[in-house]
Amino acid sequence: MVRCVSMAINHYLFNMERKRIIIAIDGFSSTGKSTMAKALARRIGYAYIDTGAMYRAVTLYCLENGLVNDDGTIKEEELVARLGDIKITFGVDAATGQSQTYLNGRCVECEIRDMRVSAVVSQVAKIPAVRRALVAQQQAMGREKGIVMDGRDIGTVVFPEAEMKVYVTASAETRARRRYDELVAKGDTAVTYEEVLHNVTERDRIDTTRAESPLRKADDAYTLDNSHMTIEEQDRWLMDLYDQITRG
Ligand code: C5P
Repeated sequence: MVRCVSMAINHYLFNMERKRIIIAIDGFSSTGKSTMAKALARRIGYAYIDTGAMYRAVTLYCLENGLVNDDGTIKEEELVARLGDIKITFGVDAATGQSQTYLNGRCVECEIRDMRVSAVVSQVAKIPAVRRALVAQQQAMGREKGIVMDGRDIGTVVFPEAEMKVYVTASAETRARRRYDELVAKGDTAVTYEEVLHNVTERDRIDTTRAESPLRKADDAYTLDNSHMTIEEQDRWLMDLYDQITRG
């Protein structure tokens, strides 16, 4: 309690002379966007939204409700008819302080990170009606500003007016290695590095070539290539940029 109050006071003092902004962090899969976005949000006392988790939760719903065909394509009409039944919310784990994703009231934070979800999420994310529904929710979440949001289209479509935009990139091999290490650390012993690399490059291909809001760098975004950066270095880079923009 005392710690929470003192953190709130620190955030208040820290942000007192700064304007409240929207921070959009976009980029390829497994670049560590979420980790750096979360760390920045915590440090400056902003809310954090992982939009990839929202597309992943819709994908889990499809897998659990027979909406994925054997070839990995989606039963699009059925999904669109059922979009109103899919409620995605976020909460914070009291013990760890980590953000958690809920699908219709059930915590699905672990399940949405499985390879079976990763394998088809880009098919779900290219459906225009799915994007429209999720983008509307994301825009509502950012109405009050003071938010860090990460995804693929935050700086281009969700908040084209965001004051701070970052485009994160790293080589496919670096990203696949990080993702593979994460899955193994979670106890997934069946997955291979080649499988993860294939998933990463395939998602890159679908995400950058889809007709509806493809992943691209916004003209006014700052590029961060973190292939050879430590987590501390990239956190400092982000914080320096935030300082520059909010004090400027
Ligand atoms: O960020 P993450 O890798 O968890 O996102 C999973 C997938 O969701 C991406 O590969 C992409 O297909 C989709 N996505 C998207 N737009 C966003 C966030 C994620 O299309 N804003």
